Amino acid sequence: CGIVGIVGSQPVSERLVDALKRLEYRGYDSAGVATIDGGRLKRRRAEGKLFNLEAKLNEEPLAGSIGIAHTRWATHGAPTERNAHPHFTDGVAVVHNGIIENFAELKDELAASGAEFRTDTDTEVVAHLLAKYHRDGMGRREAMHAMLKRVTGAYALAVLFEDDPSTIMAARNGPPLAIGHGDGEMFLGSDAIALAPFTNEITYLIDGDWAVIGKSGAHIFDIDGNAVSRPRQISMAAA
Ligand code: GLU
Repeated sequence: CGIVGIVGSQPVSERLVDALKRLEYRGYDSAGVATIDGGRLKRRRAEGKLFNLEAKLNEEPLAGSIGIAHTRWATHGAPTERNAHPHFTDGVAVVHNGIIENFAELKDELAASGAEFRTDTDTEVVAHLLAKYHRDGMGRREAMHAMLKRVTGAYALAVLFEDDPSTIMAARNGPPLAIGHGDGEMFLGSDAIALAPFTNEITYLIDGDWAVIGKSGAHIFDIDGNAVSRPRQISMAAA
C-alpha cells in the first residue's frame, strides 16, 4: 500500500525503511526492500510490521545506493513473506500498489511460454513481462512501455533492472506516485509525506504517466511514449 524509491550515491536501505514508516498510516500486512549491490539485485522481505523487516536488515544489512521498497496490503495471495514485494524475476525487481485486472490471462500466456511463477500475486506478471521483453531483445524503456500497454487495472509501480544500477522506472495509473528532486539524488514515493525528510520539491505523476529516474533527474512519458513535462511543486508536508 506504499512505495518508496531512492537513486543516489549514499546507502539507501535504512532511508527506504524510514520512508516506509511514514506511509504506515495507510495500513499494510507485509513489507520488503530491494537494492542493487555490486551489480546484483538483493532483497529482504518480512510478514507483519516494519519492525520485522528492520530486524532482518539488522541481521543481514543490504548495501547499495539504489533501491525500492514496499508495504503491501494483500489483494491477491496471502500476506506471507513469499508473496511480499519486491518480486524478482530474471534480473527484474517490481513493487506494486493496486490490482492488475488482467493478470490471470497474462499468467496463462506467460506460463505457456515457460515462465515459472513463484507467488500468488497479480503483481508477478509485471516482472515476468518485463523480463521476457528485455530477454527477447527490447531495451529497458521499450520493455517498460510494452509492459504498460499489456496490463490493465490500477497501479503504482517501481521497477529495477539489474543490468542498470543507476535507474528506477516508475508508472502510475490510479494510486498516487510522486517523484522527489534531491541534490544529486532522486526519490520516488506514494506521497510527499514519505519524501519529506529528503526533499520538498515534488513532481506528481498523473494517470498514464511513466518515468525513468536517474540520480540527477527524471524523464516522464505518457502512455503513447511521448515525453511530457509535469510541474515541479514545493510540498508543504512536514519532515
Ligand atoms: N495486488 C498486489 C498484491 O496483492 C498489491 C497490493 C498492494 O497494493 O499493496 O500483492
